[in-house]
Amino acid sequence: MATTHNLGFPRIGEQRSLKIALEQYWNGSMTEHKLLQTGKNLRKNHWKIQRDAGINYLPVGDFSWYDHVLDTSVMLGVVPERFAWDGGEVDLNTYFRMARGRAPSGESVAACEMTKWFDTNYHYIVPEFAKNQTFSLSSNKLFDEVAEAQALQLNAKAVVLGPLSYLWLGKVKGEPFDKLELLERIIPIYQTIFSRLKAQGISWVQVDEPILGLDLDSSWQQAFVQCYQQLATDRPKLLLTTYFHELRGNLAWACQLEIDGLHIDGIRAAKEVEQVATALPEDCVLSLGCVDGRNIWRTDLQQTLETLQPLKDKLGERLWLAPSCSLLHVPMDIEWETALDPEIKSWLAFAKQKLGELSVLQRALNQGETSVSNHLQQSTDACTRRKKSSKVHRLSVQKRLSRMSKAVQKRQSPYDKRVKLQHEWLKLPCFPTTSIGSFPQTTEIRQQRRAFKKGALDAETYRVYMQKEIEKVIRFQENIGLDVLVHGEPERNDMVEYFGEQLDGFAFTQHGWVQSYGSRCVKPPIIYGDVARPAAMTVEWSTYAQSLTDKPVKGMLTGPVTILNWSFVRDDQPRSDTCLQIALALQDEVLDLEKAGVRIIQVDEAALREGLPLRKSDWDDYLAWAVKAFRVTVSAVKDNTQIHTHMCYSNFNDIITSIAAMDADVITIETSRSDMELLDVFKSFAYPNEIGPGVYDIHSPNIPTKEQIVLLIRKAAERIPATRLWVNPDCGLKTRGWSEVEQALTVMVEAAVLLRQEFA
Ligand code: GLN
Ligand code: ZN
Repeated sequence: MATTHNLGFPRIGEQRSLKIALEQYWNGSMTEHKLLQTGKNLRKNHWKIQRDAGINYLPVGDFSWYDHVLDTSVMLGVVPERFAWDGGEVDLNTYFRMARGRAPSGESVAACEMTKWFDTNYHYIVPEFAKNQTFSLSSNKLFDEVAEAQALQLNAKAVVLGPLSYLWLGKVKGEPFDKLELLERIIPIYQTIFSRLKAQGISWVQVDEPILGLDLDSSWQQAFVQCYQQLATDRPKLLLTTYFHELRGNLAWACQLEIDGLHIDGIRAAKEVEQVATALPEDCVLSLGCVDGRNIWRTDLQQTLETLQPLKDKLGERLWLAPSCSLLHVPMDIEWETALDPEIKSWLAFAKQKLGELSVLQRALNQGETSVSNHLQQSTDACTRRKKSSKVHRLSVQKRLSRMSKAVQKRQSPYDKRVKLQHEWLKLPCFPTTSIGSFPQTTEIRQQRRAFKKGALDAETYRVYMQKEIEKVIRFQENIGLDVLVHGEPERNDMVEYFGEQLDGFAFTQHGWVQSYGSRCVKPPIIYGDVARPAAMTVEWSTYAQSLTDKPVKGMLTGPVTILNWSFVRDDQPRSDTCLQIALALQDEVLDLEKAGVRIIQVDEAALREGLPLRKSDWDDYLAWAVKAFRVTVSAVKDNTQIHTHMCYSNFNDIITSIAAMDADVITIETSRSDMELLDVFKSFAYPNEIGPGVYDIHSPNIPTKEQIVLLIRKAAERIPATRLWVNPDCGLKTRGWSEVEQALTVMVEAAVLLRQEFA
């Protein structure tokens, strides 16, 4: 008999109830008791959904108030000194202070850093390790939740983040040392955790070790072997999980670890399934992630069964079925979508449906296909309909892609020639000042947008309102003396959604929320079909803004790679093809803007870096098509049209040649928080074009001083020729208030004026 289990379930709940409860607790309008009750109810409901879907082992410990890596830190007693924790059980407010710097009680302190969980859009709280780091079991959350599940008569499988992945994800603070030195100190805590779980009657523990999908050097490989040897006694059975990538060089030794089961990502590591099945010892379970936990498409069950059947014949009871990874990364229930095109909806499966799919696969294996023939037929029909649908396939788009000539990937002239023409035409001073695009999104702006979307506001009234807003932004920028203006983006709810809603091939959900960090969720668009642009998307707003002023106004677009990386992407063609389709659609927009007299066009690639594959050997391929997509988007313009791009980071030492290959005339980047140190790469790499390193941090409410900005730009000028420097904030201003923006940008312009005299 094959067994089913789940690796993790979305935490946020129906109607994002966890988000709402957390935010109420944080602002003082919900008691701790009520919050705890909300969590308990959510866990109970989520377990019930999983059990009713037919899942045999339910994950316990995957629920989190904020983040499961932070849960692990707290469980192991890894609480940095500044939180003034005095040992013992870490309380909820200390936990929240670590996550977000403040909580209803306790002093506000600098929060722990947050960063991306592998190649997902989920952010975890980075553990901080000191050289004299000690560890102690400091939370009972896991054991309490196990007891909770057992009281409900559920078949619980405890979930923990494994010691090696935990260490890997953390950061050394203070005196440098090798993190692996801490392993010996952590293992005893894991021993205690495992033996307590065993005493509670737990038979299986899922130990997440996703770093098995990364390149590991021999010291980490050996650490794995030793660690699991040391953890071999007085414990439940261990199921080690790996996901998001192939095991590659780690495959052989990972299969020999002292464990009782290994989970692999059958979607992303499909190639390795057979090899792992052969390499695992006779008594070791293979858990196959055969339903995609990272995307929202329905599984082709019949096709999946064809790979499962021989595995079942070979492994028998040792075959377990699971989603490829935790379902944290997909929305909860497709049935909540009442406004979605029914045809598109029939192609989709969210967390709950994915568990249903697993259960059908299980029955097909255990009881024969005829026991589920209806379900199999439905799945086949849905997949066939999707394959053939005219909503998915547009001949015109495919033809355009296949005919795309080399010429549109390259500007007419090299930068040296373009820059002269641009400077002649634009007549900008040195150290030109600009912003990244958005201006404060006030409550009123949001209300107007919402009213228009709901139909409560007619198109004309909406347009007049937005025009007034644009005019306000233009006048303000003129008044303070900025050189390159923007229209302020008041019409945009989100930099991807705004474009997706106007492009063919995109669908949007009402409730398809996915946790991004803490209480924050995103609702990624679904790219289901060939992408085309039926009409101009931004030209009206940009040209209106330009009509109000003699200064140049930048047109503002979101780039193809960012749109791709922040969406659920179709899985029936390479991602690179989908990206190029988006690029071609955006190319039309760029040309329309140019035709309408917009002389500067910015194409934001905020998410280019985060799309980097997990293994370095896969980077070149990704970067090649990502750069190509950007170039396709912008290269058809005339030489004297200035192309800008913006990136929300500047740690691109490792991808600098690709950034240069994008050949944007100007790139604006985030640097202020690093004191321009991140620009060091420009000392050794002669970046050829113009750069605007962000001169103040827009994530903070603090107003920079003129002196601070001047100092930063002087530092930048040590690394990049002053003639090629722009002066701008770190990122868009939409989350800031007007008074902050007024003060900060005024100071910024004053700093630029001062520098012009200094460098003249
Ligand atoms: N143009 C966008 C803005 O200013 C860029 C946002 C971003 O980089 N994330 O808001
Ligand atoms: Zn940014």
